[in-house]
This record gives sequence, C-alpha cells and structure tokens, in this order.
Amino acid sequence: MELVDLQAQRQRLGGAVEEAIARVLDHGRFVMGPEVAEVEARLAEYCGARYAVSCASGTDALLLVLLAWDVGRGDAIFVPAFTFAATAEVVALVGATPVFVDVLPTTFNLDPDSLHRALAVANDASLRPAAVIPVDLFGQPADYPAIEKLAADAGMLVLADAAQSFGASRGGVRTGCFGAATATSFFPAKPLGCYGDGGAVLTDDADLAAILRSLRVHGQGVDKYDNVRVGINGRLDTIQAAILLQKLTVFEEELAARQEVAARYARLLRHPVEVPVVEDGVVAAWAHYTVQIPDRDRVNAALDREAIPTAVYYPRALNRQPAFSDMPADPEGTPVARMLSKRVLSLPMHPYLQDSDQERVAEALVTALPS
Ligand SMILES: *Cc1c(COP(=O)(O)O)cnc(C)c1O
Repeated sequence: MELVDLQAQRQRLGGAVEEAIARVLDHGRFVMGPEVAEVEARLAEYCGARYAVSCASGTDALLLVLLAWDVGRGDAIFVPAFTFAATAEVVALVGATPVFVDVLPTTFNLDPDSLHRALAVANDASLRPAAVIPVDLFGQPADYPAIEKLAADAGMLVLADAAQSFGASRGGVRTGCFGAATATSFFPAKPLGCYGDGGAVLTDDADLAAILRSLRVHGQGVDKYDNVRVGINGRLDTIQAAILLQKLTVFEEELAARQEVAARYARLLRHPVEVPVVEDGVVAAWAHYTVQIPDRDRVNAALDREAIPTAVYYPRALNRQPAFSDMPADPEGTPVARMLSKRVLSLPMHPYLQDSDQERVAEALVTALPS
C-alpha cells in the first residue's frame, strides 16, 4: 500500500507517457517546446479560465504572481497559519510581510473571521493590505465567497493557492477561477502531477498573463535579450508538459475515483476518528484524506508497525516555524492551527486504492485507538 500510488497510475496509462517523452526526445525542443503551449490550452479549458501560464513549480506560480503585482516592502499579505511553507515563503522573498490567519477546525481552510481581525493588525503596523492567499488545503476550495468580499472591502487582491486542489470545484466553479489569479502545482503527489516539478497560474486577466509570460523568462520583452523587468528562470520543461498531457486524459476518471475512496473512508471510520468535512456544493480534489484523532503520535506509530503508510501534514503551524515566528498574526492567535498540528493524520489516498486496503487502514485505526 502506498500513500500515493504513482506506479498504479503509470500502469493504467500503458506506454502513453513513455511514448510522449520519446516524442520530445525526438523533436528536441526541451525548453518551451510545442507541448507547453498545448498543455496551457488544455489547462485553461479544463478550469474554465481564460489563460494558463505554466511555470517551473507551484512555488514559482505563487512567486510570479506576487512579482507581477509588484508586491514588496510595506505590503501585508494574509496567509493561513496551517499550510505548506511555500505559501508564506514567497511573501517574505519579495520583501512583503506575511500576516498569519487562523483556519477553521472543520475544513482546515482560512477562517474569514480571523482574516478580519488580522486586517486590523496590518493597519496598526502601517502595512498596506495588498493581498490574501487562501489555500485549498488537502484539495477543498477555501471559502472564496466570504474571502473575496472581505478582500474587496479592504482593497486587496486574492491569489488562490490551489497547489492541492486542481480539479476541485465550489458551486460548480472550478479551481482556477477564484480570485484574481490561481497558482497550482504539478509536483508528482498532487492531484494532477508530472514526473518532476511543475506549476501554472490560471487567470482571466490578459495583462497579468502577459506579464507572467515575461517574468518566467527573465523579464523578457520582445525577446530573451530584451529585459524589460526583473524576472526569473521559471519555465515548465517540455517533457513535463508532455507527461501532463497524457495524465490529463484520465484525470476526470481519477477525480471520480477519489470521491469513491473518500466516501468509503467516511463509511468505514467512526468516533473518535473525525473524518474531513466537505462543505455543501464543494467537490474536493482529495490531494490528501486527513482525519483528526486524539493521541495522534501514538496511533501513528501503531499504524507504522502495521506497515500502513501515513503522513502528518503539518506537524507545526507555519507561524511556529523558526523562519516565520517573528511575523505578525491574528491578535487572538492561531489556536486552531496549533490544535490541528497535534491531531491531523493523512491516510493513503489515490484513485487506485483498493477496498481491501482501505478496510485494513480502518481496522488498524480502530485497534490503535482508545474506544
Ligand atoms: C505543494 C504546495 C505548494 C508548492 O508547490 P511546489 O510545486 O512544490 O513548489 C504550495 N502551496 C501548497 C499548499 C502546497 O501544498
């Protein structure tokens, strides 16, 4: 059993991925080859966004948008306290200040009430509220209707961190269409993964898309040796684009299979295991199936002895990490993020997970837990 079984997917795809890679080896356009434009068109079409600008990773996708928006010193960018380091790291890298917001105990996503309190902190510190980066943690879109309203009132932009939620939707609207821009990742273990690093920005904003295309090639103007802004080398490799094109052919079916796996876990697990809550009208991409349990570390060790793969995303709230501990936060603190860091456990989750394996996981959990 694997936490994420990439070999099962590879078998399913037959030789299609290998053949797609061979075609790139033959045509030799390893950087910005034809597959890159092709996958961008498919990604935009899939999400219902006007533009998809591919890039080298999910982290670069976030960074490129902040660079394009000219965010920097004196700007406050609001980020959840319970997320992967990249969300806040890019903010600090451009010289802006990440302000940590607490999350909801049900969905693990940014708490709009906490965002409201954190906005006051930024104003007191004479920071300009520039943007908020809601994260669609474990694959469930954040509460964009509430967050977009708060952001509009504060004059802030919304950058969705959809690294874990490609394919998810809320109210029939797919990830990629929330906020002013969406950053996603194709790291192998994400819902749509390549065989290395990759990412993309989705947006309806033509000017933003043009600036992103320039920034990812050293701020190029008419060509590579015309540098009109300070950029980075942030392109998606052609080979990775070719791999993504093949994986997209089965992505819809995989998403459906993930729903079945999640539903089966929900049937198999009961108190004191708290299964994830999916809000009404939301279809999650199920990057991870994350439960909350008492005495997590002891239970996790027991599962380990049964050779059941698990992971703890995340063992520490981000604002308690040494790199970020000086940064401002909601004045009432981030107690939910802290509580979750002690209670969460992610179970095996991928489209090819067998019923019998899920039953084994559930049984091992029941045995390990106090009743
Ligand atoms: C994976 C991830 C990222 C970064 O994506 P990379 O492709 O690994 O750079 C950013 N934010 C979140 C929430 C992630 O899970």
